[in-house]
Amino acid sequence: MICTTVRNGEDCVFMSKNGCSYKGGSCNAVVETCTGCNRSKEYETGWYCAAAPDPALKWKNGNCNIATHVTITVKEEKAKHENGNKKRINES
Ligand code: SF4
Repeated sequence: MICTTVRNGEDCVFMSKNGCSYKGGSCNAVVETCTGCNRSKEYETGWYCAAAPDPALKWKNGNCNIATHVTITVKEEKAKHENGNKKRINES
């Protein structure tokens, strides 16, 4: 249904006839680490994520897995892990 709260006018799975069904009754604003992500969008009410109702939760355990601006970081992390594994294999 179409949101009538903080992301007014956007189609949203949490919207219902009884209003927003997400905890607290609306999405939470993006966090600082979302800066530069193409999924963040400015509304009259502030900046919100088009894909996640609570951006802080997406960053709680590391990088947001659907962010559009951290691809290089993810690749670097993967390379670090692979290099670490090679070292361990060579050490044994
Ligand atoms: S996709 Fe992740 S990084 Fe991008 S705006 Fe949403 S929560 Fe923030």
